[in-house]
Amino acid sequence: MPTAKPWTTDSAAELYSLRGWGLNYFGINEKGHATLQPQRTPEGSIDVMDVVEDVAARGIKMPVLIRFQDVLRRRVTLLNEAFASSIAEHGYGGRYFGVYPIKVNQLREVVEEIADAGRPFQFGLEAGSKGELLAVLAMNPSDALTIVNGYKDESMMRLAAMGLKLGRRVVVVIEKLSELDLLLKAAAEAGVKPLIGVRVKLQTQGVGKWRSSTGHFAKFGLTTPEILGVVERLKAEGLEDCLKLVHFHIGSQVCDIRTLKDAVKEGARYYAKLRKLGLGVEYLDCGGGLGVDYDGTHTAVESSMNYSLREYVADVVYSVQEVCRAEKVPEPNLVTESGRSTVAHHAVLVVNVFGAIEAGTSPVDLGETPGEHQAVGELRETLKALNPKNLAESFHDGQQHLEEAFSLFKLGYMGLEDKAKVENLYWTLCREIGKHLPKAKFVSEDLLEMQKSLNDQYLCNFSLFQSLPDSWAIGQLFPIMPLHRLSEEPTRRASLVDITCDSDGKITSFACHRKAGGTLPVHPLDGRPYYLGFFLMGAYQATMGDIHNLFGRVNEVHVFQDADEEKGYYIEESIRGQSIREVLSEIQYSDFELVKMIKETADSQVKAGALKPREAAELTDRYEAMLSDYTYIDHTPAAEESHPRRRASDQPPAASEPVPQAS
Ligand SMILES: *Cc1c(COP(=O)(O)O)cnc(C)c1O
Repeated sequence: MPTAKPWTTDSAAELYSLRGWGLNYFGINEKGHATLQPQRTPEGSIDVMDVVEDVAARGIKMPVLIRFQDVLRRRVTLLNEAFASSIAEHGYGGRYFGVYPIKVNQLREVVEEIADAGRPFQFGLEAGSKGELLAVLAMNPSDALTIVNGYKDESMMRLAAMGLKLGRRVVVVIEKLSELDLLLKAAAEAGVKPLIGVRVKLQTQGVGKWRSSTGHFAKFGLTTPEILGVVERLKAEGLEDCLKLVHFHIGSQVCDIRTLKDAVKEGARYYAKLRKLGLGVEYLDCGGGLGVDYDGTHTAVESSMNYSLREYVADVVYSVQEVCRAEKVPEPNLVTESGRSTVAHHAVLVVNVFGAIEAGTSPVDLGETPGEHQAVGELRETLKALNPKNLAESFHDGQQHLEEAFSLFKLGYMGLEDKAKVENLYWTLCREIGKHLPKAKFVSEDLLEMQKSLNDQYLCNFSLFQSLPDSWAIGQLFPIMPLHRLSEEPTRRASLVDITCDSDGKITSFACHRKAGGTLPVHPLDGRPYYLGFFLMGAYQATMGDIHNLFGRVNEVHVFQDADEEKGYYIEESIRGQSIREVLSEIQYSDFELVKMIKETADSQVKAGALKPREAAELTDRYEAMLSDYTYIDHTPAAEESHPRRRASDQPPAASEPVPQAS
């Protein structure tokens, strides 16, 4: 859309709703590059394209996940400081002992960073399985809470008891009545006093995708009679003081603050009533649910939220205080288990676009030739006669000629060449009509539909199933923005397709610009590398991704801000993504066996005289070497040079395609 104002990086920020979802952790600099702003101001910002170049220079291939560790630390600090200041402001009687549920991102480096940033606040960790508990017991600072959720068996209870013996403050949350017996038994065996939590099934119904986490039919939690069962049992054993924590969780990504407030109030009542029954409850654990504004609209829709982190914190503190005052019980220490909001922002997936599928382009000349089918000539006439007044009529004529050509082809009356001409002319006609549409007074539905089909599909080097499983599984939106050329108006619209052979492997809904009909505003490809950033990728995507089509884990780099460095950052660590060998072995292929089978086949070709022994050896070596490759498309100029025969004929020569340089 032509605008009166000249295009600036501000226009880009607005177009991609950057300020909404970016929370000022991201910006755009004067070069038109996306930046990371750990301090949430342009001061000390990191040019994301610097990192991309740096990564290329180290031979790390796309796609690459960049983790900005400073953001992770900031999120932890922000949450803890928000609770501390709200508690002070309200004169609240308890403290905040938050935990990070590692299921949201279990990567050791992520958990380590969070534990380290949280140390001054006694910020702890939460585990929901044996694997997670083994990790958490080792990683958690001993004065912070370790909370154990999820279904537990005897060995998990023994592990929790072991944690207590090691001096960890392990609270086991009872999700199911039978777990209490297991816990008491394991604790007695180990000779420790258990720290017990109960998860209550709230009546407050969540909102959004995870609303079924509460209510009578929720998978987890105790009903009120069951809670009384726990109380009775503990009293009978003289263990009333072991019930330390009341827990609830109303589901992730709660988009409406009212729901959260209702849940907190309901949960606080359980705490108060249990207190009054003489149990030693000290903590109220409000679970997760603190949202992330993926689309930047700040509204109560699934992909957004109508509140800020500070507002959430203030509402928790205030609501609990209100209930406790009314019930005349001491104010409990507060716990939250915010995962998504802590880790979403720190990770950006960088993906290179390596081509476009444009509707109706032809690599061969389809000009007029003598003796072509009448249908071709008629369509050519329609195209010639096109003018702003006959758009709809021309489109309908075009459609009719196209259909005619299909029938003629099916019946054997039209050859490939004429059919190609018809298709090409049809799409040329559509594109020409498309150019007139922005100025047209009235545009019919079918023309709008047609216009959509003119949008490009950009081929992006990633697997939706590996890197954005929630986009595929539950239609989750993630903000996507080009990482450079942002001072240039994006004049094209494209949907994004991945490299899996799965037609589900595409993105057709975008956080920014809902009106754009399933497309992202992008820049025309100009033969140079074009990079898109997939933002807010830090929560839930890493371990839920799968190896569909055998695209494995992606390369990662961990970036730290450092004012002493020339570019203002350093790469602390890079973690190689999976090789083809690793992915194959996950599904039971042994590289040794595979190479052996290829070698045998090559040898038999040698015996048959079809291959020279030297060729057979080279072929086998090459096969073996490829097992170490990255699973994704190798589209760097260097790669194309080393496999010249793989270069597509319509690509410019690889040598003239430089790696992007800082200008
Ligand atoms: C998943 C989960 C969380 C994390 O929720 P977020 O919405 O990501 O903060 C917290 N607590 C429990 C019990 C969970 O299952």
